[in-house]
Amino acid sequence: MDFEPYIRDIKDFPKPGVTFKDITPLLKNATALQKAANALVGFIGNTKIDKVVGVDSRGFIFAPMLAEKLGAGFVTVRKSGKLPYTTISESYDLEYGKGVLEIHADAIEEGDKVLVHDDVLATGGTAEAVCKLVEKLGGEVVQCNFLIELSFLKGGDKLNGYPVKALLRY
Ligand code: IMP
Repeated sequence: MDFEPYIRDIKDFPKPGVTFKDITPLLKNATALQKAANALVGFIGNTKIDKVVGVDSRGFIFAPMLAEKLGAGFVTVRKSGKLPYTTISESYDLEYGKGVLEIHADAIEEGDKVLVHDDVLATGGTAEAVCKLVEKLGGEVVQCNFLIELSFLKGGDKLNGYPVKALLRY
C-alpha cells in the first residue's frame, strides 16, 4: 500500500520554517491504519521481540499495536516528570529544542530484545536517547522503526549501528 496520500504536510508548524508531517489522515483511515501496523510488524520478520518501546507521544499510537501483534510487552519512554516510579533519564536535542526523556528503571530486563518505535525520525536525537536508555537498562535494540524518516535531516546517522526501518522516506 502507498501510505503517502495519507500524510499531510502542515507548513510552518509548530513554528515558521518547519513543515510538519501530520499522520492523522492515516490514523483515521481503517485500511491504512491496519496496513501500516502490519507493515511495521513485517519489518521485524521472525526475530523474537520482548519489549516494544514507544516514544512520547505519537510513538504511543502504534507501539502497543506492534507489541500486541509481536507478543511483546509495551514500554513508554516519556518526557521528563511524567513517569510515576523510579526513572533513569537522558537529555537529547530535537528539531524544535532540547529535552529530557525518561524510562522506568524496571521497564527493561537485562538481555531483553527491544524494538524502538516512533512516528517520525527527524534529526535522530530523540531515538538516539531512547536507544541509550534501553541499553543503560541492559536491553538490546534490535530495530528502530518509524512511519516516516525525514532522510534529509540525516537522523539515520545518529542511529548508526541500529537497523532503521521506515514506511515512508522523504
Ligand atoms: P528528532 O529527535 O529530531 O528525530 O525528532 C523526532 C521527534 O519529533 C519524534 O518524537 C516526532 O514525533 C517529532 N517530530 C519531528 N518532526 C515531526 C513531524 O514532521 N511530524 C511529526 N512529528 C515530528
